[in-house]
Amino acid sequence: MKIVILGCGRLGERVAKKMEKDKNNTVIVMDKNSNALNRLGKDFTGQIIQADGTDMQEYTEVMKEKTDIFIALTNSDNTNIMAAEIAKQKYKASTAIARVDDPIRAKAFEELGILTFCPTTLGEKKIAKLVEDSSKKEAEAEDEE
Ligand code: AMP
Repeated sequence: MKIVILGCGRLGERVAKKMEKDKNNTVIVMDKNSNALNRLGKDFTGQIIQADGTDMQEYTEVMKEKTDIFIALTNSDNTNIMAAEIAKQKYKASTAIARVDDPIRAKAFEELGILTFCPTTLGEKKIAKLVEDSSKKEAEAEDEE
């Protein structure tokens, strides 16, 4: 599968390395910042492109051959939504996923059929669960006393 990842922050790096493990995948990682791309290290076998995802010339070059999976993981909701939409609509990517940090927008775009995930909502749920578990433990400890 051809997998394009836009944004090589901590999450982009981890996703790229995970996808790279499957030798059937061709992984392309794009970031505007060379320091971010250095995270991938010298053993990374995928293609590394230093470019801005909003630069349509660069974007077209990367997308012109059929992309199976497009994953937008920059720290800009607008960039991610726009890039994922173009990947799906114009370049017919089979799957396009966008990171959307704003929970309200994430929900709205999901309702429009765009595959989104929201780190804010995921973090909120995780924290609520940790607090709940901790409260339960405290209550149990008090009962035992
Ligand atoms: P993080 O700050 O860990 O969420 O990572 C976000 C990454 O997205 C950073 O490495 C940024 O350089 C990258 N980024 C942000 N905007 C763009 C863009 N328009 N094109 C390419 N990479 C971007």
